[in-house]
Amino acid sequence: MERRVKQNNEIRSVPSEREFASNLVMVAAIMLVIATAIAVAATWYTTRHYEPQIHHRALRTATILPLIIVPLCTSIVGYQSIMNHRRMLRIFKLAHTDEMTRLANRRAFMQEARHRFDTVDLEYQGLSIFIIDLDHFKKVNDAYGHEAGDEVLIHASQQIVQALPQDAMVARLGGEEFSVLLPYTDIEQIYHYAETIRHRVASKPCAYLEHRIQVSASVGVGIAHARDTVRSVMTRADDALYDAKDEGRNRFVIAA
Ligand code: GH3
Ligand code: MG
Ligand code: MG
Repeated sequence: MERRVKQNNEIRSVPSEREFASNLVMVAAIMLVIATAIAVAATWYTTRHYEPQIHHRALRTATILPLIIVPLCTSIVGYQSIMNHRRMLRIFKLAHTDEMTRLANRRAFMQEARHRFDTVDLEYQGLSIFIIDLDHFKKVNDAYGHEAGDEVLIHASQQIVQALPQDAMVARLGGEEFSVLLPYTDIEQIYHYAETIRHRVASKPCAYLEHRIQVSASVGVGIAHARDTVRSVMTRADDALYDAKDEGRNRFVIAA
């Protein structure tokens, strides 16, 4: 489960802590070199234009001062910047994570999907989108209560994650609806994963108090072709999901 959370929160617009720290060290090193160069130039100027006896004192001061001041200032500013950066990462993570299931939320999913559609050549590399909706979920809430419904949602999200390979991105779009971004278009692989999701959700009931709550899911799949957009593939997946519902639920439909 943890692996998916990390993957889902792939943070594209904020540098990682390591990148940020190495940038900071680079800036500090550049500042140190510049400060030392200025100090040496100042010393050279001083020794040329003033009394030679002040040469040693000037040289010592000019080399020691930047060595003390620059690392000190960089440490203070760097500490503050790292703290701010951590705060920013936390806020970014909150804004892109579904609190209940710890999956990516709709915003994170759409950002990642758009990024992949922009960067992948759909002619050569496959992408497909699954939309998964739990069947008659309202009945779960009605029969066992909203809290039980929440547990079932978390349980179902885990079944979906476990049905898929590491390179799939799973998100909660909202309510009892989930989505998957899969980097394949091979129909046999898609068939396999759609069936595994359906089977896992339907065959692994959620234990809640003394109950074992059984649900099922309908899955609609849209396969991306050249010149497709996220919107066009999601629309096809959505239409396929409606077909799966119409045909009796607990099944998947693939829109090629
Ligand atoms: P269908 O098979 O047609 O999808 O039927 P359904 O009952 O699943 O669909 P419907 O849209 O009628 O109802 C969805 C229900 O999901 C209603 C809502 O109370 C419930 N739901 C949405 N979000 C949450 C949530 O976060 N927690 C719980 N417990 N229930 C939720
Ligand atoms: Mg539903
Ligand atoms: Mg729904």
